[in-house]
Amino acid sequence: MNLAALLDRIAVDVAPEVGRGAVADYIPALARIEPHRFGMAVAEVDGGLHGVGDWERPFSVQSMSKVFTLALVLSRGDGVWARVGREPSGDPFNSLVQLEHEDGIPRNPFINAGALVVTDELARRGDAVDALLAFLREESGRPDIDVDPEVAESEAGHADRNRALAYFMASYGNMRHPVPSVLDQYVRQCSIAMSCADVARSALFLARHGVRNDGTRLLELSAAKRINAVMLTCGTYDAAGEFAYRVGLPGKSGVGGGILAVVPGRCAVCVWSPGLDARGNSVAGVSALDRFTTLTGWSIF
Ligand code: GLU
Repeated sequence: MNLAALLDRIAVDVAPEVGRGAVADYIPALARIEPHRFGMAVAEVDGGLHGVGDWERPFSVQSMSKVFTLALVLSRGDGVWARVGREPSGDPFNSLVQLEHEDGIPRNPFINAGALVVTDELARRGDAVDALLAFLREESGRPDIDVDPEVAESEAGHADRNRALAYFMASYGNMRHPVPSVLDQYVRQCSIAMSCADVARSALFLARHGVRNDGTRLLELSAAKRINAVMLTCGTYDAAGEFAYRVGLPGKSGVGGGILAVVPGRCAVCVWSPGLDARGNSVAGVSALDRFTTLTGWSIF
């Protein structure tokens, strides 16, 4: 498979959709992103790396960070599953309603409430963002990966919903650290800037069933399987069914316009285009991944 040529073809195919949708505007710094960007990178398990368009341009990873914090937490054991479920929510990513029905236990680790719990859990051995950055820098080979301070400040100033979620869970005893500290780490984690190439390389451990780029094991086989499963069922907001239908891969999207997808045993893919559909997934990004699995036959189904 000539992946470089394939990516060129996908970029041409989805060009009419680049710029469609709406850039996330509830975080002011994200509202300023140029909507016409498009980049896509494929990192292969044997080290091959291919890209097209803006594939080396950093953007705000937002909720794609939730995959990595979950992996780091699970690398220390699976106790977090007592604090967060693994069912799709069917509600918006920042919804409060189910928390009350389920005693402060979020439905899954990829909606905001669940991700706050995961960050709180990761913070048990020091700053969660320090641990996350150390991992991402090592896997991507890019020591300059960092939090974008402008996005972090902008997001921190518009975090009332996340604050409410965290306090609500705290009222049920499902926060170990003070809410302001967890919220600060969560906001910084979402504000990390990375390129498609960085994200794809950093996620290769999921394509390698838990094995990192240096050959050491981050996760047991079953933990890697479980993260991929939760990505498939819960990774693309309340459109995970549509994403499975069109793309057929474990995926995690973010409101910065990025989507990370995993082809177990083969590669990790990251696509970025800031225009989002009504559910919060990149319009051109979903189409590009749809084309990718159609042309390669690499859907897990
Ligand atoms: N930092 C964003 C928030 O919590 C993440 C949103 C997302 O990418 O889903 O609102």
